[in-house]
Amino acid sequence: MVKQFSEYLYLPYLVFKTIDYFWKAFLLNYISSGGFFMAIMITDECISCNACEAECPNTAIYSPGLAYNIGGQEYAALSEEHTYIVPDKCTECVGFYDEPQCIPACPTEAILADPSHVETKEELIAKKENLDLVGR
Ligand code: SF4
Ligand code: SF4
Repeated sequence: MVKQFSEYLYLPYLVFKTIDYFWKAFLLNYISSGGFFMAIMITDECISCNACEAECPNTAIYSPGLAYNIGGQEYAALSEEHTYIVPDKCTECVGFYDEPQCIPACPTEAILADPSHVETKEELIAKKENLDLVGR
């Protein structure tokens, strides 16, 4: 019997997803254990279900195309395609929880650390305190 092409692709796909998962977990743990943190970002895997939005203590997560707010000031949406995180509002949940709350809430594993936004714990605490002051 001739196997369908998709059957040949399934095993490589599983291997890729497993490596991808452990790589992300390792990277997040490595960065955090060294005292450095990264803002969290949402990738194209997002299906805009908004499950993560309810978990965010900083109201840093917004629906696609929706303007975001900081301190009563409105800013243009950062993504029209999928739900997005505002790096200026994300503290990796520092100040509220020990772990980012949005990551386990995502059914498609679309949330991961953003290497372009590495911050120290002190910077994240300062960001949280500033948001406390000006408003989220
Ligand atoms: S890590 Fe925490 S603060 Fe950052 S977007 Fe996710 S839930 Fe919000
Ligand atoms: S939980 Fe995941 S899929 Fe749902 S909106 Fe958030 S990032 Fe997108």
